[in-house]
Formats: sequence, structure tokens, C-alpha cells
Amino acid sequence: MPKSVPDEASVTPEILAKYEPVIGLEVHVQLLTKTKIFCGCSTRFGDPPNSNVCPVCLGLPGTLPVLNKRAVEMAMRAAVALNCTVHQRSRFARKNYFYPDLPKGYQISQYELPVATGGWLDIEVAGATERIGITRLHLEEDAAKNLHEGFSQSATKAYIDYNRCGTPLVEIVSEPDIRSSEEAHAYLTALRQIMLYTGVSDCNMEEGSLRCDANVSVRRRGSGKFGTKVEVKNLNSFRFLQKALEYEIERHIGVLESGGRLAQETRLWHQAEGRTVGMRSKEKAHDYRYFPEPDLLPVDVSPAWRDEVRRQLPELPEARRARFVASYGITPYDAGVLTATKALADYFEAVVKAGALGKAAANWMQTELLRRLNDSGKEIDASPVSAKSLAELIELVESGKITAAVGKKVFSTMVESGRSAADIVSAEGLGAQVSDSAIEAAAREVISKNPDNVAKYKSGNEGVFKFFVGQVMRATRGQANPQSVNEVLRKLLS
Ligand code: ADP
Ligand code: ZN
Ligand code: MG
Repeated sequence: MPKSVPDEASVTPEILAKYEPVIGLEVHVQLLTKTKIFCGCSTRFGDPPNSNVCPVCLGLPGTLPVLNKRAVEMAMRAAVALNCTVHQRSRFARKNYFYPDLPKGYQISQYELPVATGGWLDIEVAGATERIGITRLHLEEDAAKNLHEGFSQSATKAYIDYNRCGTPLVEIVSEPDIRSSEEAHAYLTALRQIMLYTGVSDCNMEEGSLRCDANVSVRRRGSGKFGTKVEVKNLNSFRFLQKALEYEIERHIGVLESGGRLAQETRLWHQAEGRTVGMRSKEKAHDYRYFPEPDLLPVDVSPAWRDEVRRQLPELPEARRARFVASYGITPYDAGVLTATKALADYFEAVVKAGALGKAAANWMQTELLRRLNDSGKEIDASPVSAKSLAELIELVESGKITAAVGKKVFSTMVESGRSAADIVSAEGLGAQVSDSAIEAAAREVISKNPDNVAKYKSGNEGVFKFFVGQVMRATRGQANPQSVNEVLRKLLS
């Protein structure tokens, strides 16, 4: 009998290193249409169970589906953003299987003629860029949602909420190009970011708007042949995806090392137990008896429609990062942080547009603003400080009207009171009001008290200059203009 549990003691790092993981992801993304894909019912999440249903999405006999044009358009947008070829003609197909969450006894999906094929997504892992191929992107309807109550054999109840049934989905299937759990994580992160930027989904994993199944196998490094793959389902967070993959990779290697063979099967991730368990042996595609959906015409996408979708595509995260580095002189790291969401990137650009230098805007946002938002659990859209107000504060600091230290205090007050920086500075007398002669007096005193450091500075130790600046700032209680302090010190020390 093949071994099914990894013998963890035997899978040493040396043994792990002999194998190469091969991973392909199948991601389901709920589209942000207002209504379902084949009827006019609302797709709103969280409504009372079975309140957004009609004869079509309940699969009652004699009803006919009518395709939602917005769903096709969003699928096209996602496809173009993923560098796929959008086909002029695609077709819906019936995928037949019985399950209580599928009232028609089949799911309307796409099979031989999907909306799009042949794309890619570039990801960055450990400083290197990897291109992950995208096999296909197709449209389908979501199933209803099963809710289980109690897991003991005597007290199990299942409820079905058909509100979700008929919500438009795109399924995005990757090539088996992913080589580690980190890469899988990076792929899903990048994919999610693109879906959010293009506005096709809210990608809320807790609400099930983004769902991911992982296919994984291992092979000896250097081998050109793929191993037997296992599909892991129930990965409802990025962390679970990574943990499940790590677990499976070790399990596969453990089985192979002990002379066993892997079964092609579907497994479920059990977060509480930290392991996967077998669910069913993998159905073959023909078990679904796919055939063209007779109730729907093929989808015709004119070149003009496709071009229109392409034209309306917003700037994507990767392009935006590159542009931020090139036009605002910020580091690739900063650009990565500031383009994490479209709203954050828009905010950054608004700060710059209001007059701040890119570098200063990037620093203030990362050190002060993001920390504050993080602490209060707020998104950038709910920032208590507007982009324009932040730019005003930055201008006060950069022009030397207030010191950086005072600037930080002013920022805090802005967050708490919503008042403008200029207002706070004048009301509280925070301007850098230390006269040049007072700065000079302070500088002379610091210099006379620190002959050792003066000697060091004179012998070429530039680093010690910071010490003098710090001491003078301290003596002036952080209210001196730092630029003046610098100038005075240079003069006195030369
Ligand atoms: P199936 O017919 O079982 O659905 P597919 O060929 O359609 O298999 O592939 C489904 C997913 O599995 C894709 O994301 C693909 O990249 C991935 N995949 C295929 N073969 C392997 C393999 N040997 N190891 C890991 N992933 C694989
Ligand atoms: Zn309906
Ligand atoms: Mg498949």
C-alpha cells in the first residue's frame, strides 16, 4: 500500500533539495457585476439566505438563461490585463454533475472555446522576475453555498443558500510554471492586485470572491518529466495556500523516498490539523460529459469591442511601479509599497501633484501615514489627512519653516483634529523661530564642549558632523531650522 503520511523525520533538507516542486493554480474570481450572469438577480453578498433567487438561477424547468454583457466585458478586461488572447468566438458548455448546490444538475461553464487563452503574469520572488504562463480564462456561473452545522454524525445539518448560485465567475488556470510555495503566494498576490486594479472583483477571500485550488507535484531536479499531481482544495487564505503546498511537497517527497507511488487525487486542506486529507480520486474530464450549451448562442466579440476594453484598461501595477521609479526618483521598494493598491498609488500621486517631491511624499506616507492607518485599521480612502494637506505639511518642513521633528508632531495633530498644518503651526507657535544668532551661540557652546569630536571632524571624519547637528537641535529644543544649523556649523567648524 502506498504511504500517505509524510515521514517527517526522513525528509531532511538534503532530501528536499533533490526534488523540484511543480505547481499550477486554478483561481476563481467572482466578477463585480450588479446582477447574476444569466438572470437579473442581485449578486449582493450578505443578504438573507435565498432572497436573491428566481426561476432561472434556481434551475426551474422551462426557464432560459440570458447572458449578462457586463460579465463578458469584465472577463475580457481581466484577460487583457493578463496578456491573454481574447477570442472572437467563445462558447458556453454544460459541465454535468450532481450536487445539491447545483440545482440544474449541470454548471454552465466554458470548455473547448474559453473567452481567452495564452497569457502570462510576471512575479517577483527574491529579487528575480519569473514569468508564469496563463493557460486559459473562462466564464462560468458560481454554485450555491452549502452551510454545515455540527460535524458529529448524529447532529449534522446542511443548509443551502442559493443567493450565490449564478454569480459570474472567471476561472484563471495557470501553466505548471510555479516552482515553490513562495512563488505560488507571489502569483496569487500579483493576480489579486491586477483584479483589484482593473475593478473586475473585490477579491475578498473571506466572502469567497477569490478562491484558489492548487495542483502540485514534485520531480527529481533535472528531470524533464512531471510527477503525479494532486489537487488541493479549500485554500481560503494566502497563508493556507502556502502551508498546504509546503505540506504536500514534503508529503510527496516522503512517499517517493520510501519507494511509494502517489495517487492522482483531490485533497482538502485541514487548517486545524495542519495537513491535507484525501477527498476523492480525481475525476477525468469526460466524467463531466461536457457538451455545448444549447440554450445560449456562442459569444461573439468584435475587434472593436475588444479594442474598447483594452483602451479602458487602467495602468496596471507593474507599469505603475516602473513609472513611479522613473518619474519620481523613488526606490523600487518604495514604489512596490505605494502601488500595493490603486487607491494608495492615487493618493501618492495626488500628494506629488499638490507640490511635494516624490521622495519626501514617499517617506512621509510610509513612516507616518501608513503607520497611522495601520494602527487604526483604516484604508487610505478613509485617511484623516488628505493628500493636499499632507503636501502642505511636507512643504512646511522642506522649506525649513518647521523642523522635521515638529513636522511629525504637527502630523499627529492633523490626524487627531483634521486641522491644516499651517493652522496648527501658527496657532501653537511651532514655526522654526530660533534666530540665527541663537543657533550660532548654541553651536559655539557645543563645539567648545566637544574638542575630541572637533578634532575628529577636522581629520576628515564626516560622520561626526551629524553629532554636532543633533546637539545643536537638542539645545534649541528641535525648533531651529535644520538647514540653518547645518550652515552655521559648517562655517564654525571650517
Ligand atoms: P486536469 O485535467 O486534471 O484539470 P489540467 O491539465 O487541466 O488538469 O491542469 C489543471 C492545473 O494543474 C493547471 O493549473 C496546470 O498547470 C496544473 N498541472 C498540470 N499538470 C501538473 C503537474 N504535473 N504538477 C503540478 N501541476 C500540474
Ligand atoms: Zn435569478
Ligand atoms: Mg482542468
